[in-house]
Amino acid sequence: MDEHIGRAVVGVDALQDRVGELGAQITADYTDDPPILVGVLKGAFLFMADLARAIALPVEFDFMAVSSYGSATRTSGTVRILKDLDVDVTDRPVLIVEDIVDSGLTLAYLQRNIAARGPRSVATCALLVKDGLQRTELDLAYVGFTIPPVFVVGYGLDVGERYRNLSGIHEYVGPPRR
Ligand code: 5GP
Repeated sequence: MDEHIGRAVVGVDALQDRVGELGAQITADYTDDPPILVGVLKGAFLFMADLARAIALPVEFDFMAVSSYGSATRTSGTVRILKDLDVDVTDRPVLIVEDIVDSGLTLAYLQRNIAARGPRSVATCALLVKDGLQRTELDLAYVGFTIPPVFVVGYGLDVGERYRNLSGIHEYVGPPRR
């Protein structure tokens, strides 16, 4: 796309294969009780679209949007909700669909926030987990890939709203992000 896009960290074929496997696993695990998929905007939008089509169950869809934080909120683990759920998840199985887990603070917050609404269950499917960076114990039922701790873009992930439409996951080798 341009010179700021480095090597592919996860290629298109590997993505497609793994998303198919995750969908099959989720289908098997939720056969009797299809979940509400809660996509975390904006990064998870492509993953959510592909994952949902790999799940052979009548799932429902909802989305949350949370603020990307600065350094202050990173340490506190506080996340601002920009768009809340539309559906009532009380006594429903919820599957959070997240693009990438770095420190894990965003996801820990979302899991707590959704659990507080009294769902029947909450589980998380994260496409990418950065190796060794999690600062909190996370319950990750489904993980696509564990990747090295580099900044990546593509397949929904951005830098300044760009590169989300790359088909694969690439290392970002451009100027500083903020
Ligand atoms: P955490 O709270 O786990 O530290 O960060 C999670 C959020 O930070 C992700 O949902 C994503 O928005 C952003 N993020 C973390 N690592 C990356 C990365 O390598 N690339 C991009 N584009 N966003 C990232």
